[in-house]
Amino acid sequence: MPANQTVEKAETGQQQALKWIGAGKKQLMVDGRWIDGGSGKTFQTINPATEECLAEVAQADERNVDAAVTAARCALERPSWSGISPHARGRYLERIADAIEVHAEELAALESLDIGAPLSFTRTQVAGTAERFRYYAGWTSKIYGTTNASDDSRFIYMVREPMGVCALINAWNFPLVMAASKLAPALACGNTAVLKPAEQSPLTTLRLAELIQEAGLPDGVVNIVQGDGAVVGAAMAAHPDVDKIAFTGSTGVGRSILQASAGNMKKATLELGGKSPNIIFPDADLDRAIETSALAFCRNSGQVCSAGTRLLVHESVYDEVVARVASVASRYKVGSPFAADTDLGPLISAKQMERVLSYVEAGRREGAKLVLGGSRVGTTGYFVEPTIFAGVTNDMTIAREEIFGPVLSVIAFKDEKDAVAKANDTPYGLAAAVWTRDVGRAHRMMRAIKSGRVWINTYAESDPVMAIGGYKQSGFGREMGAESIDAYTQTKSVLMRV
Ligand code: NAD
Repeated sequence: MPANQTVEKAETGQQQALKWIGAGKKQLMVDGRWIDGGSGKTFQTINPATEECLAEVAQADERNVDAAVTAARCALERPSWSGISPHARGRYLERIADAIEVHAEELAALESLDIGAPLSFTRTQVAGTAERFRYYAGWTSKIYGTTNASDDSRFIYMVREPMGVCALINAWNFPLVMAASKLAPALACGNTAVLKPAEQSPLTTLRLAELIQEAGLPDGVVNIVQGDGAVVGAAMAAHPDVDKIAFTGSTGVGRSILQASAGNMKKATLELGGKSPNIIFPDADLDRAIETSALAFCRNSGQVCSAGTRLLVHESVYDEVVARVASVASRYKVGSPFAADTDLGPLISAKQMERVLSYVEAGRREGAKLVLGGSRVGTTGYFVEPTIFAGVTNDMTIAREEIFGPVLSVIAFKDEKDAVAKANDTPYGLAAAVWTRDVGRAHRMMRAIKSGRVWINTYAESDPVMAIGGYKQSGFGREMGAESIDAYTQTKSVLMRV
């Protein structure tokens, strides 16, 4: 598409998004009705590129959570949801995907306004959101039980049933895709949901809820309650009538959710933080490895759970790789999400920017060598330059803690054994990548690395068929792929005497 057409299209989407924002206060959706928060309180969602208030958003309280859970329970038991065929459920999901595609430009612009990510990036996110609904639409008619071996006097079989009422809590960095990653499989399996977007970026989830309503989903099947995590999220995690909880966010909050959900033994899926190793061997296609490794820590300004933030490089190519990754990242343009040439938008908030800059200070203090960036860009908006530290050792704070910003730690290794030891020397285990032309080594490394995802000769590619989830403190259970069908159903074993 010619560049001028792209700009025209972007303006249209942006205008639609701004019109929707301007249409009034954003409310909660409970039992198909749009309502204010019980306490009447609102909060502001901020445009991180301009620091201006985008919208006043209703803030839920515990009573709203309770009403949303009751609505989801009633919807679960109504024949309009529990009594329909799997094909009919699939058609609902298809209609939601259609609506997302019709409103793709508006949703991408809204996401860019709310999280600051470049439009080129949020467009791919919207496409991924629709794709998730279509993928799970296909699953509705393929959720099988089993017939088990037995003698002629008995018939033993297993059926899969929905979990029930699902509480879904999301982080702020991929609001739409995360909403789809939870809602689509939950609905495909016949559950109902209460969804809480993060308070930093609730807008696209609220717009998605409108589209879900327009797709005709029965009232109460999906409910949205945004607000403070410690109030709304905690009430969802502790609620005695919630059957399943799925959470994406930090490891610390994940731990508290697991504890709160123990009260009524909710089934839990937790997608948590990461400090993922990206490992380059000297026999790799270095051109591709270097280009991709720069993107791996800068995509969405580094606010990605599986970002490749620890670059492990063989000592024989270490200096070359450091210099060339720095050269690629130095050409990235930091700026407005709506400028056609922007590679990195702002971080989500002033708090996050300060946190990231404090890690840069820690890197300097602990003796790592700053080879690129390290500063805020401009004085308005929460922009931070791509930042690279060389000479990092695995014991430094910047190599151990999740920074959630565009900060890379480059660590040298001697051989395969050393690479494995350094890759696994972390409490996290979300993702990893290996760059090599040696198939045997790729396979050995894949086996040796303790993480839920491993990329070989690529980074960050994903597909709805591919599960994500953590080893160690990066999570509990898996999301996406067939694994989500397991996560949103429970099995019932039956023995019939015949
Ligand atoms: P966060 O843990 O602060 O918040 C996540 C969500 O939990 C928000 O909706 C928040 O309101 C809610 N919350 C906060 N306190 C709560 C409580 N006490 N009880 C219940 N809910 C509560 O995380 P964040 O800062 O929004 O997101 C960044 C984190 O998310 C990073 O650690 C990142 O790695 C992780 N993440 C993981 C994945 C994954 O798939 N593994 C994907 C994206 C982000």
